[in-house]
Amino acid sequence: MTRSKTTISRREALKIAGITGAALALNPMIAPSQAQAAPIASKGKIVVIGAGAAGVSTAARLYELLIEPDITIIDDTQTHLYQPAFSLIAGGVVGADYPKLDNADYIRAKWIKQKAIAIDPDGKSVTTANGETIGYDFLVIAAGIDLNYEAIEGLDRSMLGKNGIASVYAYESAVAAWDQLRELSQNSRSRKVSALFCETATPIKCGGAPKKIAFLAQDYIRRNGKRDNAELTQMMTGSAWFGVKVYADAIEKLYSKREMAGNFKHKLVKIDADRREATFAVPKLVMDEELGIELEKSELIVKPYDFIHVVPNQSGAAVVAQNPKLANPTGFLKVNIQTLQSETYPEIFGAGDIVATPFGKTGGSVRKHYKIVAQNLVDVMHGKAPSQRYDGYTVCPLITNYGSVMMLEFGYKGADGSDTLLPSAPLDPTQERWMWWLVKVHALLPIYKTMLRASA
Ligand SMILES: Cc1cc2nc3c(=O)[nH]c(=O)nc-3n(C[C@H](O)[C@H](O)[C@H](O)COP(=O)(O)OP(=O)(O)OC[C@H]3O[C@@H](n4cnc5c(N)ncnc54)[C@H](O)[C@@H]3O)c2cc1C
Repeated sequence: MTRSKTTISRREALKIAGITGAALALNPMIAPSQAQAAPIASKGKIVVIGAGAAGVSTAARLYELLIEPDITIIDDTQTHLYQPAFSLIAGGVVGADYPKLDNADYIRAKWIKQKAIAIDPDGKSVTTANGETIGYDFLVIAAGIDLNYEAIEGLDRSMLGKNGIASVYAYESAVAAWDQLRELSQNSRSRKVSALFCETATPIKCGGAPKKIAFLAQDYIRRNGKRDNAELTQMMTGSAWFGVKVYADAIEKLYSKREMAGNFKHKLVKIDADRREATFAVPKLVMDEELGIELEKSELIVKPYDFIHVVPNQSGAAVVAQNPKLANPTGFLKVNIQTLQSETYPEIFGAGDIVATPFGKTGGSVRKHYKIVAQNLVDVMHGKAPSQRYDGYTVCPLITNYGSVMMLEFGYKGADGSDTLLPSAPLDPTQERWMWWLVKVHALLPIYKTMLRASA
């Protein structure tokens, strides 16, 4: 399969999307932003840490809500990567340049091209890598997630993209994964091959990504290699296919239908790259003879592989993770999960992947966050209580084949622990659909760019 064979033109896609217009118009990923109230006076200095999806969009929204606001963005990143394309790059659907945007096209605020290395929430200041200290009256923390591949023994980032070790979480390795996938498929023509698709126990961005690459591999080998020769196994750390029951059931059925296996409670702890062996810690009940009761112990299981997809441990960006006044124990920014405001420092807000919400580390969540955070900040600036609430909305466009996606949308669980489905189209969300593939491949990047200008 080549890139050109897997894509259709954007014009064709949008035409089809137009046919399903009623559904798409309802979709919060796609519907245009609401009409704006007239901007109001701005008071004080706003600093935004992070020029990714959340930081850029929030700053852009603040320009809509406020008259001549004083906004400074801190981030040394010039090339803004549209990360939802990483799985598509790994699957050869789009090329390596597809996700590259220039932050200069989107940032209107004063821009300090440095990393923030410290936040003093009591003194209301941020220190940058070049030693500058910047005071603020309001702070939006949108510094995203740090990836820690080194938490897996024997692995470091330089090993990604080689010797069958792939990962869609880092740009370079997503690019390399496309060659690795083709090599795996090629090998399946002449011999048995084994591919392991791992997950990790920390919160992660785009929780569906480790399964998207598995489904793409399955379909690619089916079309181009010898499917009977390929053993494809999802190695999950949890005990369910997905955190939302109806989606978990639908995913399990698809794995069964596509003859892909799944193992629960398998945590990747070590890689031997030379031998192509992966070690998993698996909980096991063992009788303790002295105590006379069964205790849970960890058993180590070694599995050979030809191809392994690894997911790094993830935490909030170090500038937050290393600040106990701001971070929770897993390194994410403590906020009220509805207002996205710090409960200790009312002038601090969080947006995007860095906030310690139970889930919602997706661009679709950012599309909710930036409006809520900008409005709540303006409310606090004007002496009011935050007026906006985040319902936990998140979306995973789970690629299930070349040409089909299951659009998994959900929000915070109910008080009784029940799941909350938030499908934005009047369609069964547990069905894989070509329409959602078109949205994922052709519509989401234009929408993302519009979001960066606070218009989506
Ligand atoms: C493989 C993959 C697939 C995905 N698929 C989807 C999908 O299909 N749909 C979807 O909705 N979402 C998807 N996502 C998730 C989506 O990309 C993220 O949720 C989104 O980018 C989060 O935006 P953010 O601004 O919080 O973080 P980012 O966009 O990561 O931006 C964080 C920014 O903070 C900066 N920063 C970090 N530390 C500092 C510091 N100390 N000082 C200053 N700046 C700092 C970084 O340089 C970066 O520019 C996917 C992600 C991945 C990796």
